[in-house]
Amino acid sequence: MIVSRAPDSIHPFLRDASNLDGGAAEAVWLPQTEQEVIQVITTARQQGKRLTISGGRTGLVGGAVPTGAENGWILSTERIRPEPVIDVANLSITVGAGIRLFELREAAAKQNLFLPPDPTEPTCTVGGMVATNASGAHTFRYGATRQWVQQLCVVLASGQRLRLNRGEVIANGTTAELSTLEGSTIRLKFSDLPIPSIKNASGYFLKSGMDLVDLFIGMEGTLGVVTSVTFRLIPIPNARLGGVVFFRELQPLLRCASEIRSRSRNPNARLNSNILEFADWNALQLVREKFPAIPDDAFGGGIWIEQNLGSDDDAQILEEWMELFQRHEAMMEESWFGEHEQELARMRELRHAIPSSVYEFLTANGQTKIGSDMAVPESGFEELYSFYRQQFADSGLATVTYGHLGDCHLHANILLDGSHQLPQAKLVYDSFVAKAIELGGTVSAEHGIGKLKRRYLRQMLGSHAIESMRQAKQTLDPDELLGAGTLFEF
Ligand SMILES: Cc1cc2nc3c(=O)[nH]c(=O)nc-3n(C[C@H](O)[C@H](O)[C@H](O)COP(=O)(O)OP(=O)(O)OC[C@H]3O[C@@H](n4cnc5c(N)ncnc54)[C@H](O)[C@@H]3O)c2cc1C
Repeated sequence: MIVSRAPDSIHPFLRDASNLDGGAAEAVWLPQTEQEVIQVITTARQQGKRLTISGGRTGLVGGAVPTGAENGWILSTERIRPEPVIDVANLSITVGAGIRLFELREAAAKQNLFLPPDPTEPTCTVGGMVATNASGAHTFRYGATRQWVQQLCVVLASGQRLRLNRGEVIANGTTAELSTLEGSTIRLKFSDLPIPSIKNASGYFLKSGMDLVDLFIGMEGTLGVVTSVTFRLIPIPNARLGGVVFFRELQPLLRCASEIRSRSRNPNARLNSNILEFADWNALQLVREKFPAIPDDAFGGGIWIEQNLGSDDDAQILEEWMELFQRHEAMMEESWFGEHEQELARMRELRHAIPSSVYEFLTANGQTKIGSDMAVPESGFEELYSFYRQQFADSGLATVTYGHLGDCHLHANILLDGSHQLPQAKLVYDSFVAKAIELGGTVSAEHGIGKLKRRYLRQMLGSHAIESMRQAKQTLDPDELLGAGTLFEF
């Protein structure tokens, strides 16, 4: 097994995409197998070292950055990469935790299958996806990572192993028993958390009668090391219509989005989008150089849509889309529509370029990410977004907003070019959190809590719920070996 102790080899593991400062570790361990993971955990216990689990380090909240404990170690999963195994008959794929999302996609595509959850950054690992319950554009139609996990292999902080198949270990009310492969039984007692019934990645999933596989989805490296995952897959649609549709004004765009949302949720409607993504004018400006086909008067922003085709209704579906966009004053001539894979890929590239450019900007300016990840129920969305815009306008800060409009979940980012703006940016961000909570929302819909959003988690869930999470942590990791400083204050 590779162990790196040289500062130069450790250095790249001290940052994720949040740009959180202050990471420090004595060593990075790179196990390749489950047995080697157990070996790292056992050695860490013997030597009194804490472990931070690191996947692709594309996380946006510092979960993979070891800032929680002095002299700890990093356990990187990036070499846990046995060949993916596809079960075509059962539509599933089993992958090692270190497999990157794009590699999983390539393997599945060879069998004409795909995994719907699609966090915008394809270099994330599947272990990281599970640990953060990642989601993306397709979540609008297909749900988050949680809905697609069939089996998890997890090594616990004790070095014992769990194999959890969905549907097999169900809590009896708020108590549950987990049997390890080594033959011991772990008894878990918890209280229900007030989990909002919207897209959510804020804290543990603790719910009466829950499936125990769900406890390890979204646990952010604090309850065990995920070594292998089996996902359900679905067939790649025969044909798809994609579109990036630009608007001169915001209000018609929002009205159009609202109609797409409700028609897509109606099982009898012909018009039915898999995605409903958004970028505001500032976000489009940020990537204009790379994408000169963005119209220079799309002041209202742009939305992304995608609908499966391949039925007798295709012509009618196209007509309905065009009628909808025209009625809502979209820039029909300048918008992008296409059905070829190359055209769809270009649309995805544009969407990916926006968060990437935000990351590049912040890295160039040495700043930590301050960007919202809150989602709210549909009834509160317009109020929240109008609050964001008002606060941004009053603050005079440089901002870009984009994200998952279909799920009422936007990333409103502040582009700090110097630390002098930090106190003001934090105040603005705090006001966003308070507003989202007031509207029944979640403080993290997909990036997780990590080290950057702990106090917001407490603000959202309350002390009682945090205590319930702590009890679960205490049961599974009593010595706090894993993920120090993530989710909980250390
Ligand atoms: C440009 C860009 C766009 C993004 N867009 C999205 C998006 O649309 N949706 C979204 O959900 N996220 C998005 N992200 C965030 C990020 O890609 C996801 O959070 C991703 O799931 C993190 O995976 P990772 O392998 O990089 O994990 P890391 O960053 O390495 O780790 C994340 C957390 O998971 C834990 N962890 C990692 N692997 C394991 C494991 N095997 N076992 C136990 N714990 C583990 C870590 O300890 C840490 O707490 C984006 C990031 C970037 C840079």
